[in-house]
Amino acid sequence: MANVRLESIKRRFNNVTAIEDITFEIPDGEFWVLVGPSGCGKSTILRTIAGLENATSGNLYIGEELVNNIPARQRDVAMVFQNYALYPHMSVAENIAFGMKMRKMDSKLIQQRIGEVARSLSLEHLLDRKPKQLSGGQQQRVALGRAIARQAQVFLLDEPLSNLDAQLRDDTRAELKQLHQNLRNTTVYVTHDQVEAMTLADKIVVLNRGQIQQIGEPQVIYNQPINKMVATFIGNPPMNILPAKFTSDGFDVSGQLLPVPPKIKGKLNLATGQLVDLGIRPEHITVFSNSSNSSNSANSLISVEVKVVEPLGRETLIRAGLAGSTETINIQAAGNVNPHPGEILNLELDLNYLFVFDSATGDKLYP
Ligand code: ATP
Repeated sequence: MANVRLESIKRRFNNVTAIEDITFEIPDGEFWVLVGPSGCGKSTILRTIAGLENATSGNLYIGEELVNNIPARQRDVAMVFQNYALYPHMSVAENIAFGMKMRKMDSKLIQQRIGEVARSLSLEHLLDRKPKQLSGGQQQRVALGRAIARQAQVFLLDEPLSNLDAQLRDDTRAELKQLHQNLRNTTVYVTHDQVEAMTLADKIVVLNRGQIQQIGEPQVIYNQPINKMVATFIGNPPMNILPAKFTSDGFDVSGQLLPVPPKIKGKLNLATGQLVDLGIRPEHITVFSNSSNSSNSANSLISVEVKVVEPLGRETLIRAGLAGSTETINIQAAGNVNPHPGEILNLELDLNYLFVFDSATGDKLYP
């Protein structure tokens, strides 16, 4: 096993800069997840680590070895792509064994590994089948099995669960996590799926336009996003962003005044008249009723009109419009809250969880 270190890695394709000055080090045995919008450079980073792309500049180390000029097959990395690329003429067992045979491992050991891997991915009953006799989800698990069986120094996984249906995806995600807990292989994992990123990662790397926005543990990325991009990318439903103007009385949000308690105001360091984007997560908004306990002095009220109500059983998602504006706001309410479209609600914003972003740059101004 090995740590993976990227030093100022850049990759240009003619005049497109796919990744720009990427520097990070994954300690041995950690599971890192790369996330970001489509085209932000996730796959390019993964392919560069694999040796399938050459960096335009920068250095890449696996362990202590500089691998810039080491071809992919000599890097001892195992990669699983979204399109699992199984060998069609080989059985499941032969596919799983392929990397081990290439490395001339002892045949008894190979059989033992096939058995272990098949058990951990529930493939035992499929070992004699050819890929075309498998469902998409089964093929994807074989591709995972083939990578795991090799016990490579580094695992590179590019959206490996994307072709699975919802239930299988949840199950395989949990299996992957358990496998990593047992094997502790250094892993780099690319996904669009926030749940995968939050649940699997030791660290999440959030990318945008080829650049790193933030690297941190999932809870840190969620609770302390460094800018508006990270804040709105991680979280589902996403953090609400409300354009506002700072005034001496508080924030003017589309004509509604959101008073700010002195305790928070003292820390804001904003100029009167400054335009900002307020950020508040859906779970930090409650539907105000006279009977609710609103004694918390850090809470503020805002009036909205209900547009869409989505009951999910345990909770209800409410999409509402700010009165007199086109801004919408998502609220994650308790399952027994059931307003109807058109109803006017007063929302209580827990300002202990308020973010303030520069409206022009998206940089975080508070907290
Ligand atoms: P997605 O989530 O859609 O898979 P990604 O974050 O993995 O995207 P990359 O595939 O790494 O993004 O691509 C990053 C950028 O580099 C994109 O703008 C893409 O169009 C560009 N790019 C990638 N490969 C090539 C190539 N071979 N030639 C030209 N441009 C490329």
